[in-house]
Amino acid sequence: MSYVGPEPDDFDDFYRDDDPGRGRGGRRFGGRPALVALAALVPTALAAWLVWTVVSGPGESEPPKVLPAPGQSSTSSAGTPSDAKEPSASPSKSSSSPAKPPSASAKKPTAPAGGGSGPLKGKVVVIDPGHNPGNFSHTSDINRSVNVGNARKECDTTGTSTNAGYTEAQFTLDVSRRLRALLQQQGATVQLTQNGDRSWGPCVDERARIGNKAKADAVVSVHADGSAVGNRGFHVILPASVHAGGADTRPIVSSSRDLGERIAGKFLQATGQPPSNYIGGGTGLDTRSDLGGLNLSTVPKVFIECGNMRDSQDVTRLTSGTWRQKAAQGISEGIVSFLRG
Ligand SMILES: [Zn+2]
Repeated sequence: MSYVGPEPDDFDDFYRDDDPGRGRGGRRFGGRPALVALAALVPTALAAWLVWTVVSGPGESEPPKVLPAPGQSSTSSAGTPSDAKEPSASPSKSSSSPAKPPSASAKKPTAPAGGGSGPLKGKVVVIDPGHNPGNFSHTSDINRSVNVGNARKECDTTGTSTNAGYTEAQFTLDVSRRLRALLQQQGATVQLTQNGDRSWGPCVDERARIGNKAKADAVVSVHADGSAVGNRGFHVILPASVHAGGADTRPIVSSSRDLGERIAGKFLQATGQPPSNYIGGGTGLDTRSDLGGLNLSTVPKVFIECGNMRDSQDVTRLTSGTWRQKAAQGISEGIVSFLRG
């Protein structure tokens, strides 16, 4: 697999159908010069943010009226654990050996942990770190198809990476662990769909089922995108109304939008990362009907693409532990806002 290849033409080789970062029609890689993109960035980001505030409307937990200055955020807790270690104790880490078959380890993915005495006491949050670092060496396993209600899709995908080889799967796991720690501090019971404790997967249908089984009050799937240079910013993916086969998202469309809008607002506030300049029309929000992880969910769920791993400006952020802490903070604040109503 050519995932290390920096050429745009290679992207589709590793960016498979169910990857949320894959664009729908028209989002190809134009190779726009970085300087041009840079010059266009500031006005684009501002305009995008303005549009976003209009679309998301007024509300008690809405985004700031003023875009935070660079480096400024609502998080003073951007303490930066080293990239190599987990930011907090991880009581939910399973003892499964990496070589254990996923089918066995999947029975106990990561036991719920937390449930303290904070404002989220009694609330259950499932965090879904996109992809798995082991997927690269389990091609046939992740390529088998699963039913996502309105289609059959690959079980899972490898995800993308920076040109320097920092993988999306590493990124998603790191942000997810930071997020778990923050939510546990708020008293939530938190479960991860995988915690580096299984050799590949889970499949997208299983990722959805984990949230369903946990009767989660909120689920967020953490990702970073793999788009063209010059494409940057974050976007939150909301479930479309899908009623086909085993999928019926109708009961969760509205609540998921609420969750997603709150996460988008808080993410922007905490990180200073602008809404995507290449998807979502500047709103930082996208709606999709082709993601098994959303189609099969019966509880409020969104995906977040935190940035583009192929754009040097975004990469500077995505590879920074300080920034990832801010990202986790923003997502956490969005979830807290949603759960506290
Ligand atoms: Zn992804």
